Amino acid sequence: MRFAEKTALVTGASGGIGAAIVSQLRAEGARVAVADRDVGSLAAEAHLPGDLRDPDYCDGLALAAHQALDGLDIVINNAGVITRGPVTETSDEDWALSVGVNVEAPFRICRAAIPIMAAAGGGAIVNTASCWGLRPGPDHAVYCMTKAAIASLTQCMGHDHAHQGIRINAVCPNEVNTQMLRSGFAKRGFDPDTAIAELGKSVPLGRIAEPEDIAEVILFLASDSARYMCGALVEVNGGKPVQ
Ligand code: NAD
Repeated sequence: MRFAEKTALVTGASGGIGAAIVSQLRAEGARVAVADRDVGSLAAEAHLPGDLRDPDYCDGLALAAHQALDGLDIVINNAGVITRGPVTETSDEDWALSVGVNVEAPFRICRAAIPIMAAAGGGAIVNTASCWGLRPGPDHAVYCMTKAAIASLTQCMGHDHAHQGIRINAVCPNEVNTQMLRSGFAKRGFDPDTAIAELGKSVPLGRIAEPEDIAEVILFLASDSARYMCGALVEVNGGKPVQ
């Protein structure tokens, strides 16, 4: 029960990785506020539905979680969107969506959460970046850029706010078996199960990640076991580099 008495806000809570984070945090004793566009079916201590493209929603989320849970020890900025293609195929709408959800929303949430955590003596924030934010993957220019941006922001914030007892780190997964990946295969006309089994052959460990594989590392970064880690970017890739 690493998270007994702890309170946590998780964004993207209804998604593949988000639902695994929520379930693992609660199993280890945390009280959790879930944020996503639709959080209706999720078991949690507080439900804070909304659209992360709404600046007012993002600015108010940390305080809303703090009020609902009577504390805010942990924030997991996990929500994300993927836009595909080179810049020449990236619309203004793709740009605004990707930058809005993947960069501006976590920036706003961290900016609001840090003073709340500092006033309580500290806390932990974990952002979800990507291997593709550390080294560029092909044909996802704006997605890669947003993940590089959140990785850099994590490093900066991790150093700037350590003196307040706030540890800010990021997890950088390679491919994970969630809707984000599956919808891409479906759009291109592939059967997602077959495509994911095929993709698994390119991973030295023999399979792509399941959401639980990533959630476990996020929980480690949020826990006291990672008490000396600030501004770290932790790759979780089954041995597969970005090619
Ligand atoms: P997912 O699509 O299953 O979950 C993403 C969640 O974010 C969804 O529940 C979605 O509703 C929510 N979200 C998106 N836009 C939102 C908005 N405007 N307002 C509120 N909520 C919004 O995908 P996932 O794989 O679980 O993704 C979680 C994180 O992991 C993302 O940041 C993603 O970029 C990152 N990631 C995923 C992979 C992968 O292969 N799946 C690899 C590396 C990093």
